[in-house]
Amino acid sequence: MSRVFVFAAGGGGKGRSWKWRDMLRFAHISQCADLAASIERDYDSLCVKQPIGRELFKLFCQSRQDLQNFMSLLDALVGDPQHRHLPPLTSRLSSIFLPLTSRLSSIFLPQHPDYRASSSHSSDHVNITPTRSIKTFCNLHQCLSGEPFTQYQYSMFFDRFLQWKMLERQPITKQAFRQYRLLGKGGFGEVWACQVRATGMMYACKKLEKTHVKKRRGEAMALNEKQILEGLDSRFVVNLAYAYETKHFLCMVLTMMSGGDLKFHIYNMGEAGLQEERVRFYAAEVCCGLMHLHRKSILYRDLKPENILLDDNGHIRISDLGLAVKLSEGGLVRGRVGTLGYMAPEVVSHERYGMSADWWGLGCLVYEMTAGHPAFRARGERPKAAEMERRIQTEQEEYGDKFSKAVKDLCSSLLNKDPKERLGCRGYGGKEIQCHSFFKKVNFRMLEAGLVEAPFKPDPRLVYCSDVQDIEEFSAVKGVSLDQSDDNFYSKFNTGSVPISWQKEIIETGCFKELNTFGPEGSRSPDLDW
Ligand code: ADP
Ligand code: MG
Ligand code: MG
Repeated sequence: MSRVFVFAAGGGGKGRSWKWRDMLRFAHISQCADLAASIERDYDSLCVKQPIGRELFKLFCQSRQDLQNFMSLLDALVGDPQHRHLPPLTSRLSSIFLPLTSRLSSIFLPQHPDYRASSSHSSDHVNITPTRSIKTFCNLHQCLSGEPFTQYQYSMFFDRFLQWKMLERQPITKQAFRQYRLLGKGGFGEVWACQVRATGMMYACKKLEKTHVKKRRGEAMALNEKQILEGLDSRFVVNLAYAYETKHFLCMVLTMMSGGDLKFHIYNMGEAGLQEERVRFYAAEVCCGLMHLHRKSILYRDLKPENILLDDNGHIRISDLGLAVKLSEGGLVRGRVGTLGYMAPEVVSHERYGMSADWWGLGCLVYEMTAGHPAFRARGERPKAAEMERRIQTEQEEYGDKFSKAVKDLCSSLLNKDPKERLGCRGYGGKEIQCHSFFKKVNFRMLEAGLVEAPFKPDPRLVYCSDVQDIEEFSAVKGVSLDQSDDNFYSKFNTGSVPISWQKEIIETGCFKELNTFGPEGSRSPDLDW
């Protein structure tokens, strides 16, 4: 079932093309004028959310004596913007915070009590509570978004930001990628491992066959999945890095998840079911992923083991957002959507539903990971649809001796047939689930920050899926022709790089460090470097 597979890494030790510098060559700053005129001058987007923007703003601050310590302070408080909710690391803070004496605080934060308290401290430990650190954090941004941000926009660092943005906005074609092995097959096409030639980054490319999409009227679904994905940025949901088209395919380039799906891990790795430590870890990460979606008013609707994928460090991400839907504020939807065995009773019975459907799904997932079979089905049993519906709506699920008291309690609270009484649906959202005794040992802040190690790490030499040879070839549907009217839809889909993902890729692969050099005396002509 599993076989050894070694990825071929193309030219240049890091898998980059030997022409990578040409691919990432900056435009002359005069060519960035249109972009400079049209780009929205929003501090939060330019200097906080966009990773390259943040790096360049940081370099700008470091170039100015009066701002030097500000960025270190921000970093100490939060690491990067993903970790904003982390508690302050007091020991790191004290070494940076104390030297920031009254000089800086009197310039920028003259009246702020946090500053006064800290500068009058003489001990080694500055005691800042999380709420205080959040306040400090907001104040820092308030200061930086004023005069420093204005000056930044006249600096060579902002010019450089525009040059990076020009690269980010280059049209994307299939030439940007090398294609490797087949990873899996879906409803409209295949998923292949691929690598960006310019950076060496590995991704999974989900290719939708245009004729299949047209024949089965999948346009809205494909666009929906792409548009939902591009608005997300969570370590617990697959990220979209690029969306592009070829003659025959629409392609979504996604976070590479090479550790297989949970279905494979539950059933094909020895005795069916997983150890409680692993159940807890996956359930906690899925819970965080769902909370991220719900915060953005997105209902996922397709929670089941095969949609939860592992990366090579053993962390999971929610994938396949084809059925996800964005709800209007506090809204509900109707529609029997999902996979029958995992549908909530309110979905099965055609009622209107909201986020409750996903928390039911989490109950099904935790149940199946623990028991080694789905909640309302014995292993291998295939009841008719009507019988499945009956069981979901009326039958009490059974808990065998694999269930500890805590996990049983969690499952039965999530699998409450009444959506108003269900755990997670009583006004506190996912927080209520995170507080359940089953998760007592989990530090959710650390988990959100990526600082918790996975209890199981996939073996990098193994392929955790059914042999790819068994996956049937995908071919075009005969008798479907593509015409002008389809182009409108394709152009909505074909938007190229997704800014935050692209910028992360440039930084993570080291390309940013290598290319972001400045000429002598801060010369603005980076082309002089090579
Ligand atoms: P569909 O929406 O058509 O069901 P999926 O998104 O579920 O398509 O993808 C089909 C299969 O491709 C999955 O079951 C999985 O095996 C594989 N796959 C999908 N996304 C990834 C990814 N990001 N990394 C690795 N494999 C993936
Ligand atoms: Mg799928
Ligand atoms: Mg899908």
